[in-house]
Amino acid sequence: MEIDSALLHSKLKTFFGYDSFKGDQEAIIRNLIEGKDSFVLMPTGGGKSLCFQLPALVMPGTAIVISPLIALMKNQVDVIRGFEEKHTGIAHFLNSSLGKAQIQEVRQDLLSGVTKLLYVAPESLTKEENIDLLKEIKISFYAVDEAHCISEWGHDFRPEYRRIRDMIQTIGKAPVIALTATATPKVQSDIQKNLGIMDATVFKSSFNRPNLYYEVRDKVDAEKDIIRYIKQHPGKSGIIYCLSRKKVEETASLLAINGISALPYHAGLDAKTRAENQDRFLMEDVDVIVATIAFGMGIDKPDVRFVIHYDIPKSIEGYYQETGRAGRDGELADCITYYSYKDIQKLEKFMLGKPISEQEIGRQLLMETVAYAESSQCRRKMLLNYFGEDYPKDNCGVCDNCVHPKPTFDGRKEMCLVIRLIKSLPEHFKIEHLAMVLSGQTNAMVKSYKHDTIPLFGEGKDHSDRFWSTVIHQGLLLHLLGKEIESYGLIYVTEKGEEFYANPWEIRLVEDRVFVGKDNDDDDEDVASDKAAMRGGGGDPVLLSMLKNLRKDMSKRLNLQPWIIFGDPALEDMSILYPITFNELHGCQGVGEGKARKYGKEFIELIKAYVEENDITRPAEFVVKSAPTRSADKIFIIQSVDRKLSLEDIADARGMDMEKLIEDIEGIVSTGTKLDLNYYIRQVIDEDIVDEIFDYFKNEASSDSLEDARKALEPDYDDMEIRLVRIKFLCEVAS
Ligand code: ADP
Ligand code: MG
Repeated sequence: MEIDSALLHSKLKTFFGYDSFKGDQEAIIRNLIEGKDSFVLMPTGGGKSLCFQLPALVMPGTAIVISPLIALMKNQVDVIRGFEEKHTGIAHFLNSSLGKAQIQEVRQDLLSGVTKLLYVAPESLTKEENIDLLKEIKISFYAVDEAHCISEWGHDFRPEYRRIRDMIQTIGKAPVIALTATATPKVQSDIQKNLGIMDATVFKSSFNRPNLYYEVRDKVDAEKDIIRYIKQHPGKSGIIYCLSRKKVEETASLLAINGISALPYHAGLDAKTRAENQDRFLMEDVDVIVATIAFGMGIDKPDVRFVIHYDIPKSIEGYYQETGRAGRDGELADCITYYSYKDIQKLEKFMLGKPISEQEIGRQLLMETVAYAESSQCRRKMLLNYFGEDYPKDNCGVCDNCVHPKPTFDGRKEMCLVIRLIKSLPEHFKIEHLAMVLSGQTNAMVKSYKHDTIPLFGEGKDHSDRFWSTVIHQGLLLHLLGKEIESYGLIYVTEKGEEFYANPWEIRLVEDRVFVGKDNDDDDEDVASDKAAMRGGGGDPVLLSMLKNLRKDMSKRLNLQPWIIFGDPALEDMSILYPITFNELHGCQGVGEGKARKYGKEFIELIKAYVEENDITRPAEFVVKSAPTRSADKIFIIQSVDRKLSLEDIADARGMDMEKLIEDIEGIVSTGTKLDLNYYIRQVIDEDIVDEIFDYFKNEASSDSLEDARKALEPDYDDMEIRLVRIKFLCEVAS
């Protein structure tokens, strides 16, 4: 087919509204129109869709687009239908979500030739009636989106993807374009073999994301660390990934309770809540989304400023996709991962239920993640190397290891020993095996090959197997060693390695970092018990009495009872933590943000002066408000009150009675979180009654005790009235 550049550009403008192509787009489109197979490796957000959408619109016939996710299909179809409002038939999808009538409509449009793009799920492609239909129409080409799903070595393997080639052969030959954002050399080779497109033109864009800062942190007090990080970046959009739904719920509510606007997202939420939470994040109604990996496919929010992995991802591919959602606008963004070897062991345990071959693959991918996390090498270099790309510089300046470089040593001798071992063995082995042999350790594998009897066994026993693993990893980065693609992960000596071995030159190596990370699952308890331990005395008695005097003083001046200003636990916390900012003050027991601002100024000033005069080193840590139990309910309540739903509706939605709901609300309010219930109270309680109960708390009560209030106010007022107004009082005056 004849293609002139002007025509392509004019279609680009009329259909998509863009003035120029991005990256390789034009070359890819030309290649396809010329009838050749193509393989496109382009990072997420690079503009892969256009590479098949545009040619589909200009070529004769219908393009078949195979895509794994129904939601993504629908999105793309909607976009294309938007181009020409009169012809909704221009794009269709075919998947299990369609009814009979809809399928009939798709049929007609296909047969009459108006449909230019047909999105299909791979399982729909295997259905007999669909194949028969597709045999009757002219196919312009086949596009396989998210093509890494073909490979077991990809991060999202789908067995149905394996049958695509057979289907294509049955339906009829046409050019194939495969597209993906993540593919190691191994996955790339799997894709091409599986689709039978070994001769495809390969378009590979750089995967480097220069504006992303990568950092791996020891997983110690991760929650506290995350809260601190977010508070240091107020108002910024971010995603926090957790492995389990439970952890997602817990973290989201922990953040909410600590005054951060955050929502959960996972596949266990009903579709409506999920869509709503996603929308609120996209619309910037909330800053942070806490999610499982279910979140993010097809999300195109340009200004995500941080992606935090609370749990280590299962593979580098997953890690790269998820971190890739940060900084789409090209501005600097942070990718922070919490790492603890305990988490790795947990992941390995999860794998035990799977078929052996899958376990083996999963373990290999996980070990790559471990190597990445523990390494002291430039993270950018390691990531790009993993995807088969060379990063030319030694120091990228935008990752933790480059910002804080570790001391290096001349690793000539060590690298030569590794090469000597590899060359001495008749077969190739994996990194861990070589490292075991050099450090002189045995396991079943080492024994079965009798490698514990060879001369080089234990030749490097001054160092651990871990040391030797990192030497080998660095050999890979330096291209002295290579990894076999087909038999995944077996190590061989490259030509450059041979040269080095014959005539070694100086290479600078670094040892891995040591992580002490402990398991953080019981963190909530840790935080709570930390706090209890701190409160059990140990505060500064001199400061405490000064704080109490100040409170007495203010109470007279403001005509408020002392406990309304700050409770005793709050003053005790202050005498331990020496808060000197509003934010830090907010970290004390029962001190909400509002209360900190309303009454805190003088307290902060007093503490500041006291700290300076007495030359006190303040504890760096602040106390994180721990999540109360049943956190899913609590976060739901906070959000619902925010949206002014009636309490009856909220209780109904969670299947609880009013009693339980009020109890939960009291729990939320007692931690200093403010809820504005006025919209509801106004409807259900007489204004005079509200005033009278409010007055009791303000002027008579000696604490916020509900018991005392009942004694004083019943039977004139009913229990629900007392409790609701007490909540109002706590939020408006006492917090
Ligand atoms: P991918 O599938 O590679 O992750 P998409 O195809 O979803 O990426 O495209 C990502 C974004 O880039 C979309 O918002 C798209 O509209 C935009 N885009 C694609 N091509 C161009 C172009 N030539 N000019 C400007 N924006 C483009
Ligand atoms: Mg895409």
